[in-house]
Amino acid sequence: MANETKRDYYEVLGVSKTASEGDLKKAYRRLAKENHPDLNPGDKAAEARFKEINEAYEVLSDAEKRSKYDQFGHAGVDPNFGAGGGFGGFDMGDIFSSFFGGGFSGFGGEPRASRTGPRKGADVRVAETITLEEAAFGCKKDISVSHLESCSSCKGSGSAEGTTAEVCPNCHGSGTVRVQQRTMFGSMSTTGTCPNCRGEGKIIHQPCKSCGGAGAVRKQKKITVNIPAGIDEGQAISLRGQGDVGKNGGVPGDLIVGINIRPHAELQRKGNTIYLERTISFVQAALGDEMEIPTLDGKVKYTIPEGTQTGTTFRLREKGVPNLNGRGRGDQLVTVKIATPQKLTEEQKEALRHFGEAMGELPLTTPPAAEPEAESGGSKGFFDKKRKKK
Ligand SMILES: [Zn+2]
Ligand SMILES: [Zn+2]
Repeated sequence: MANETKRDYYEVLGVSKTASEGDLKKAYRRLAKENHPDLNPGDKAAEARFKEINEAYEVLSDAEKRSKYDQFGHAGVDPNFGAGGGFGGFDMGDIFSSFFGGGFSGFGGEPRASRTGPRKGADVRVAETITLEEAAFGCKKDISVSHLESCSSCKGSGSAEGTTAEVCPNCHGSGTVRVQQRTMFGSMSTTGTCPNCRGEGKIIHQPCKSCGGAGAVRKQKKITVNIPAGIDEGQAISLRGQGDVGKNGGVPGDLIVGINIRPHAELQRKGNTIYLERTISFVQAALGDEMEIPTLDGKVKYTIPEGTQTGTTFRLREKGVPNLNGRGRGDQLVTVKIATPQKLTEEQKEALRHFGEAMGELPLTTPPAAEPEAESGGSKGFFDKKRKKK
């Protein structure tokens, strides 16, 4: 995910967390000039830095966004954060223009105004919550998705039936115009958005009634998603071409399904390993017993050997999560904890005293009838006695 590697905004601008508005402005001014794509044509690294600088400034120059960022980091200010989004909703060109005046192409080497060519539709993101078992073994889910579809009334043209859009006379359909500008870097010829058609290259005189001229309408659709066995929390499935319709013949965007896994009542997952903790009685531990253990495949029988110590971990091979690549699966680890019997009846205590005697541990140093002492305080119990003898 792009966001995970996102740099700290203060670091991007090279200022301290306590930087004043003036400091931010100064830093932004210097860095934006250095990295502006118009001054670094074809330099992809500069372009990426320019985007980063603009995004950082957009957030830090806004008191409200800055305070959210200080509290929550990137997640506080980017609506796409955590959903795998890139630069969500930041319009670099606008920030830059507000600083240096218009006339720059924004970023990207190619003019930002080029909106007449085929444009890929936007990706649509949804989240789906599944159970641990579904994640382990894979499942099919019917998901309802809201996305933009090509308008069937005008077949995406945006013009009412029987009419066609006019090619913009100002830019002759290119959507861009060249402007000679005097800037702080000297006189520069730059490409700008055609103001007449707002970059669309055409003018719709009679908009389609169904879509209002947009050429696309929002529709709900059901789609069946195959979720592969072994998928983990936070991973996503991308369905090519199932997002928003493209523009001007561009390909549609993708549908990205982010996976959340509901916590299991007993089993814990870490990677492909399943962890389980079981409490057994002192008698079971001493004599051994057959137990029923929950696994991803349902309950299985497992025999713990006699003399099992507390904290012992047993490995159930191939009872973990299948590998995402389809080959093999992880193990399940079962750790047993031994419960010391509590609230014993006199009869049970008597039995334990007999047992202690048989082990050669009697007489106990505490009066047998005494109330059991609190958890940590009681140091004269049966087990302590036994330990001391070792
Ligand atoms: Zn135009
Ligand atoms: Zn339409």
